Amino acid sequence: MQLDTPLSALMGIGPILLSRLKKLNLNTVEDLLNYYPFRYEDYSHISSVMQAQSGEKLTLSGEVWSIGNTYTKFRKVLTKAIFNDGSGPIEIIWFNQPWLIKSITSGDKLQISGKIKKTRSKIQIISPQWEKLQAFSNQQYNIHTGRLVPVYSETYGLTSKWLRAKISQLLPNMLPKIIDYLSEEVRQDMLSLPEAITQIHFPANLDEAKNAYQRLAFDELFLIQLATLRQKASWQNKTTTYPIEINSVKLDQFINDLPFRLTNAQLRVIKEISHDLSQGTPMNRLVQGEVGSGKTVVAAAIIFLTYLSGLGSVVMAPTEILAFQHYQTLDKLLGPYGIQIGLYTGSKKFTKQNIKPEVIVGTHALLSDQLSLANIGLAVIDEQQRFGVEQRTKLRHKAKVPHFLTMTATPIPRTVALTLYGDLDLSVIDELPKGRKVVRTYYVPESKRADSYRFIENEVKNGSQVYIITPLIEQSETLLSAKAAKVEFERLSKDIFPKLRLGLLHGRLKSKEKEKVIADFKLHNIDILVSTSVVEVGVDVPNATVMAIEGADRFGLAQLHQLRGRVGRGEKESFAFLFAEDSTYPAISRLKNLEKIHDGLQLSELDLQIRGSGQIYGTMQSGSWELKIASLTDLNLLEKTRNFAQKILQASPNLDKYPQLKAKLTKTLAEVMPD
Ligand code: ADP
Ligand code: MG
Repeated sequence: MQLDTPLSALMGIGPILLSRLKKLNLNTVEDLLNYYPFRYEDYSHISSVMQAQSGEKLTLSGEVWSIGNTYTKFRKVLTKAIFNDGSGPIEIIWFNQPWLIKSITSGDKLQISGKIKKTRSKIQIISPQWEKLQAFSNQQYNIHTGRLVPVYSETYGLTSKWLRAKISQLLPNMLPKIIDYLSEEVRQDMLSLPEAITQIHFPANLDEAKNAYQRLAFDELFLIQLATLRQKASWQNKTTTYPIEINSVKLDQFINDLPFRLTNAQLRVIKEISHDLSQGTPMNRLVQGEVGSGKTVVAAAIIFLTYLSGLGSVVMAPTEILAFQHYQTLDKLLGPYGIQIGLYTGSKKFTKQNIKPEVIVGTHALLSDQLSLANIGLAVIDEQQRFGVEQRTKLRHKAKVPHFLTMTATPIPRTVALTLYGDLDLSVIDELPKGRKVVRTYYVPESKRADSYRFIENEVKNGSQVYIITPLIEQSETLLSAKAAKVEFERLSKDIFPKLRLGLLHGRLKSKEKEKVIADFKLHNIDILVSTSVVEVGVDVPNATVMAIEGADRFGLAQLHQLRGRVGRGEKESFAFLFAEDSTYPAISRLKNLEKIHDGLQLSELDLQIRGSGQIYGTMQSGSWELKIASLTDLNLLEKTRNFAQKILQASPNLDKYPQLKAKLTKTLAEVMPD
């Protein structure tokens, strides 16, 4: 057997188990060894029935005297056993496992671990872990009892018990085959890889578990750092086909002609970008700025510079709504200079007067082969979390290595910038245009729901407009979310606001329909727009002053912050109301952060702490690079791994001096970014 032996080749793994394993992305023996526990149950306290205290977690060794199934009043099956360790008998109860009587018979010598329940009349242990006593089993050591017992994430019907047994069975044969790809200089005093893998599953004590964690978390981040730094280097080694000259006189003129004064942050970021453009290597820069910080006008200034150099630009937006909005904005800003703007989306492919446009705004339809992107010096990608690396690569090939300017409103904690975004240079617009007001935000308990509807009605009477956001049902816009939005729209139209004009917006509408709804909202033909979170990145309506968000507990804090940024864009005071489905304390206190904190970066840091990094950033940038063990909040480890990665790449840019590490990296990359 080898590390890459498929699990289907193992004894005792049938099609059902195999399909469950596959769902967890466990395909080979190695995958299984790398499926780490997320916690341990501490059953290392060995005791006796006589000494056992109620509530105590402990381990007992002894003999089964009797065992049998009985039924409760409610026809539930209980398995009851009497167990004696020599100091006295104890009753064992298992629920809903009638098959146990086939595995355990009276006279069996077992070790059991669980929690003691003691009343005046009897002593019990409920649903303990159990296994044959060491002397009577063929295992080298206990795995389910009498130790720190690994607990695995049990999705898709794979039990921890099964995983434990399988992994412990595989470990002895596989350990010699595990190659430690870290060189001595990097590994230093950390555990070897085989040691770490053994101890993460079956640590003798918490120190062993901690040491194993440290080694494995190091590896995970180290590999990401190597990958992103190498990507960055390969980018910088290219010479762009399109050097852009900076005409600062005309740039100043453009800036002076704007209807507002740019903030210092905007000016600084324009300068940072200009510096990149004037280099001989292609730019790859990410501009991060809160909703409303004015990223579009920064992009417009850069597009203007590109145009002055005789080159075209493409602007790629995640939705048709947003593409259309950019098209309008850029036409307004750049049209006066005689620059032609074209629009290219799935449903619309036009350019003004059919002249070859100097700027093409579109959706991912821009990537289609029908459109030729010759002479494109700059690619602007807006709201980048919606695009993966693949699209960027495709665009890069199509347009012959243009300069890349990526823009996002998603605040990126420093730790994340250092890892998942490590291949990009980062510019932050950390200042809002003057006069922006914070959106006054309230968590609204059910008892106050009616009041908030009355408030909304009043705002509408005073000439304002309102968004009502329906819950996030799944990660992306699905049929289900669309349906939920429709139901809510009907309820609100009929029961709550029968006299007001309501509109409905969701991702399943045809783009024509979407545009019509948005146009109607902009023209104030609609008072209340009921919408899924598709408005998150689109729609700019300064007259909207209230946003009510249903099921706010389903959203991340940074995402809620982005959503509420749709209001507060005009002169009037604006409000966000948060309704939650889960009204327990942790959910509410999480939401209440939005009442106090109005800084997107701070909120995203909180998200990172509360919800973990995997689900938030895992799929954002680096394909499906989900962290299995390391945490993106660990700045120390991030910096350490980055330093080592830099050192290693300096010594050997292609990693040729480190063939084992190179092989590991190649393999990992193939897994996280197939293709
Ligand atoms: P975002 O960063 O969210 O993409 P936009 O570029 O859409 O923000 O800008 C939001 C609004 O702010 C637009 O109406 C834009 O014209 C305006 N704006 C941008 N920069 C400034 C500024 N320096 N002063 C005043 N208004 C500005
Ligand atoms: Mg924007």
